[in-house]
This record gives sequence, C-alpha cells and structure tokens, in this order.
Amino acid sequence: MAAQMDSYSMQVIGYMRSCFAEKFAIPRQPALAPAARGIIELCPPYNQPQALAGLEQVSHIWVIFVFHQALEQQQRLQVRPPRLGGNRYLGVFASRSSHRPNSMGQSLVKLERIDEECRLHVSGIDLLDGTPVLDIKPYIPFVESLPDAHNRIAEAPPPLLSVDWQPEALAQAQQHGQRLNEPLVELIKQCLAQDPKPAYQQPDPARQYGARLHDINVIWHYPQPGQICVLQVSVAG
Ligand code: SAM
Repeated sequence: MAAQMDSYSMQVIGYMRSCFAEKFAIPRQPALAPAARGIIELCPPYNQPQALAGLEQVSHIWVIFVFHQALEQQQRLQVRPPRLGGNRYLGVFASRSSHRPNSMGQSLVKLERIDEECRLHVSGIDLLDGTPVLDIKPYIPFVESLPDAHNRIAEAPPPLLSVDWQPEALAQAQQHGQRLNEPLVELIKQCLAQDPKPAYQQPDPARQYGARLHDINVIWHYPQPGQICVLQVSVAG
C-alpha cells in the first residue's frame, strides 16, 4: 500500500457574497429561505468561461465551503445542534453542525444565472458573507434525489413561526427592498419564521432581537411564544 498522507492543503476557488452579514438568523439549511440570494465570485484562473462551460444547463449546484467563522481548534466528537434545542448531544457525523472536522460545509443552492463576469448568482443560500468556497459541483437529480431515504433525526422541516409587522417596519422593509433591488420583505419573513433564537430559550416579550441582512438591521420581538413581530428595519450603523 502506498504511503498515506494525513493532511492536504486546499485552495479557495471563490468567495460567497451573501445577504447574510452575520451568522444569527441565517437559516439552518439551504432552500429554507428562497429569497436569500448571493453571488459566488470566482478567483483566477476559475473566473473564466472555460471553467463554467455547460453549467448554464444546470438548475442547482453543490457549494463546498469553509465555515470560516467556526474554525475548529479542538477535535470534537459530539455537537449540540440548535435543531434539537441546543442542549442535546449528537455525534458530529450525525449532524450538519458548522463545528466539525476540517470545518467543511456543503449546500445545495439554486443557480439563478451566470453573468458576463463569470459570477454565479444563487438563491436559497445558508452561507455567511465572505464564506470561502472550495468547489462547485452540479446537482444530479436522478442520483441525488432519493424519495425512499430517511433521516429520523430530522424527518420534516421545523414548524414555522408566524411573522407580523409593525406597519412602519413593513414600510421600511419595502423601501429598503426597492433600494437594494432585493426581496427584503420575503427574506425577513422567511428567515424569522425559522425562529433564529435557540430553541431552548423562552422568549421574554420585552426582549428585542436583531440581525443584519444586506446593509440592514432588523429588530424583532416575540409578543408570545410561536409569534414574531418585526419592530424596525433600518440601515445598519
Ligand atoms: N448546509 C451546510 C451544511 O450542511 O454543511 C451548512 C449547514 S450549517 C448548520 C448552517 C449554519 O452555518 C448557518 O445557519 C450559519 O449560522 C452557519 N454559517 C454559515 N456560513 C458560515 C461560515 N462561513 N462560518 C461559520 N458559520 C457559518
């Protein structure tokens, strides 16, 4: 048997420019917020038409990336996924946690279009702005869509919260959406409906939460369990 290498170095092939300026309120998987849009900017030499030839025939791509804001110092065998309430342990290989060996993530996202600068416009993303991309691969439905597959830890999408708006906050979101040319109202709704706060936290109606989407700060609270009300949408300071 040939000698085994136990370490490989990899090259970043591009960066995700994402609507998510911070980790809080990013959906826990892709496709949960279809209005979440981003652009993959490729690095030389991959930012050329030759590297993308044929990709225009593909509707969805796998993006392999580095969880650059969760780089691991320790070797972790177990994680506490927020999906399970954040207080139950699971083997790291049974989870999609960002805290994992080699800090490597994979997301299946919709390829909206490729522009003349060879940038990939994608939607349904769950990646932070500036995420380093290691590879891109086409999704192959007849191989990767498995109707008989099961995952008893995550059988179904989590229930959605209802999202209401203070009238002024809705008007602000509409205005900023127009300015950014982005579906901001939908994005806020889709992200908050996933309930960004840890599942074990009992929301105090007096407590305000905030997250940054694009250049916007969104403030909300929980008037009662299972319900969100958006209070303010303003340009982040
Ligand atoms: N779909 C990917 C996977 O399965 O490998 C990611 C799943 S992970 C549970 C998604 C979470 O990772 C997001 O909610 C966000 O909080 C976090 N995240 C996204 N991009 C990140 C980055 N560059 N560094 C650290 N954490 C990131």
